[in-house]
Amino acid sequence: MRVLRRTVQLAFLGLTVAVGLGAAMGWLQGASVEGYCPMGGLAALPSAITTQRFSCSTGEANFTALAGLLVLALLARKSFCAWLCPLGTLLEWLGRLGARLRGRRAASPAVGLLAPARAPDRLARWLRLGVLAAIVAATYTTSELVFRPYCPYYSLTSFHGHDVEAWSYAILGTVLLAALVLPMAWCRYLCPLGGALWPFARLGRLRVAREESACTGCGKCDRACPHGLRPSAADEVRSGECTLCLECRAACPERGALGVRAGALGARPRVSAWAVPGLLGGLAVLVVVASGLWSMPSYALDIPDAAPAARPAVVSLVVDGVRCVDTARKAVAQLERLPGVIRVVAYAARHTLEVHHDGARLDREAIRRALEAPVIDPQSGQIRFHVYKVLEIE
Ligand code: SF4
Ligand code: SF4
Repeated sequence: MRVLRRTVQLAFLGLTVAVGLGAAMGWLQGASVEGYCPMGGLAALPSAITTQRFSCSTGEANFTALAGLLVLALLARKSFCAWLCPLGTLLEWLGRLGARLRGRRAASPAVGLLAPARAPDRLARWLRLGVLAAIVAATYTTSELVFRPYCPYYSLTSFHGHDVEAWSYAILGTVLLAALVLPMAWCRYLCPLGGALWPFARLGRLRVAREESACTGCGKCDRACPHGLRPSAADEVRSGECTLCLECRAACPERGALGVRAGALGARPRVSAWAVPGLLGGLAVLVVVASGLWSMPSYALDIPDAAPAARPAVVSLVVDGVRCVDTARKAVAQLERLPGVIRVVAYAARHTLEVHHDGARLDREAIRRALEAPVIDPQSGQIRFHVYKVLEIE
């Protein structure tokens, strides 16, 4: 199971880096590392509920991933962190390196060059909820993903993406260095997504369980836990911090002493540890499929005083340059004064504009020309060429 988890971690980290690089170099049209990031969905959730519009560059995949992650937490706790999160993978490896640097006697990956006492460690974990509240409030008031330039995951995988500044790399470097000194410091104290999952994971149905009769009390499971939990101290690990990494089970020398239990309302039968990667894989596929089954606009404009259409028609365009609400709004402005346009709806995360028009007055080529025409910057008055390029028309 340990080999499987490390393989899955490596594969997901590699996939994320490949998508980030491909998107940055233009090899993967329309792909983005933030497209499936559940944190984007979480930050934009209040404004999506109140306005029925996506904020900034968020879209269906962000919100579907968030829903999938919450379901996963209720079933398999914070297994996303231990099995899939690319940043978590890197921080876990750095934490192990830090523990080794501490010396031969530091056998636990939870203890790096610094070893926080249990009480301040527990208290500091509440910081994550403060970070989460600040991000959600700022995103709600600005409708922008304000957290993006501060996010170490985005700085790491976007290959100098939109909004990334020199200090974004300084934050990333600090987070990576901190993991060496204090393992999983970002995950323990600052990660807003980890903070949001915490209460859901506390209720998680799959749990590491200890068989008292088989346990010798050697404590090897406690030393193996990267989050400093103590599986040897109870019959079940109920903590909302457990990521179901199963390192404790792999470290246990006694056959049958540590396993996984499932269920609710008292009945907690033992299940195979394969249930954890099985659930993760199944939910990942469901998220990808389900995100294509629904849609919500990022921006929509009904053209005031548009004449009723003699022949109503709708054309859908995939447009390079439409990336977020702001760029979508500017693209819609290109079509606003085109005679025959009635309504334009933008789906920024899909780079798509839906143009409702009078087919008797306007054809799709006229719409393409208007969209690809030079753009006049309203602030500077400068003319900019090739801002939007139509990739597909349906
Ligand atoms: S208790 Fe076991 S499964 Fe849970 S995080 Fe610690 S080592 Fe991983
Ligand atoms: S490693 Fe196994 S035997 Fe040792 S304390 Fe933990 S559960 Fe018991």
